[in-house]
Amino acid sequence: MRRARVALRRRWRRRTAPTATVIAPPALVAIGAAGVLGLGGLGWMARQLIASATGAEGSPSLLEILQEVRQAPMAPASGRRQAPPPPQGHVWRSPLRPSCAPAPAALRQRLENRLAVLQNNPQRVQIDPSNFGSRFDHDAFGNPVDPTPKVVVLHETVYGIGSALNTFVTPHPNDDDQVSYHTLIGGDGAVINTVDPSQRAFGAGNSAFNGLWVITNPKVSGSVNNFALHLSLETPLDGEDDGPGHSGYSSAQYDAMAVVLTDWMRRFDFPPQNITTHRYVDLGGERADPRSFDWRALEVRLAALGMLCPSR
Ligand SMILES: [Zn+2]
Repeated sequence: MRRARVALRRRWRRRTAPTATVIAPPALVAIGAAGVLGLGGLGWMARQLIASATGAEGSPSLLEILQEVRQAPMAPASGRRQAPPPPQGHVWRSPLRPSCAPAPAALRQRLENRLAVLQNNPQRVQIDPSNFGSRFDHDAFGNPVDPTPKVVVLHETVYGIGSALNTFVTPHPNDDDQVSYHTLIGGDGAVINTVDPSQRAFGAGNSAFNGLWVITNPKVSGSVNNFALHLSLETPLDGEDDGPGHSGYSSAQYDAMAVVLTDWMRRFDFPPQNITTHRYVDLGGERADPRSFDWRALEVRLAALGMLCPSR
């Protein structure tokens, strides 16, 4: 997160404004003006801009659910080479506790309503193709790998959501500059999809989850991107710095996050224990996001949606 912020500052200084299109049914809303924002007024102006472009929110329409294919053993076969394994002994311990207790009716109804909106009224932003790619079914060494999404990596934007979108719609020919998340959640709870879950977002660099990564480029180390879904929360205004924390995320953001995660877990059939953070998967020890994250706020909402009951 911190290094990315520095990189973003440099890009804003040298690049011209891109043109973005928000597909917001029923209207197409241009937000290219976000690109003309300088560093100075970027914070609230970008927020205002995206706020005006977002109303209803939702998930992508029907996805082609990827077939459940178990990952083949990594033993080298003819014409293949053994892929270097990620560092071991780095086990994720989810803060989410199992719960089958009945949820307060009002909370459950509120979240169920949001889930229906999410699924019926998707909000998408078309980003530049240089910032995402296809999921691979073989690694760079010819070994079959399972491209089915099975891990969610949580992030925060540090700057306003308009700043992140401006970066994503900007063409980035250099690998080091390419970045994206599947979904962004604004401070007001707006859900904005930028990369379809069937595609590979570039949300993490050198990274692994419970001893698993996929090397798709033999010149660089492995990453979780091939099997990850990346979800980023808009950072509050008092978090636009290098500090260790900020005032936290809004109740509307936790509501929206819970329904996005529920939608993904149901579609791709992975457990809530596979919801993790950029801080955890990052192997460089340089990413700290999302800061000031309240796992209990997420837990109570996932429980209300029945997602933390092991027998679901
Ligand atoms: Zn991150």
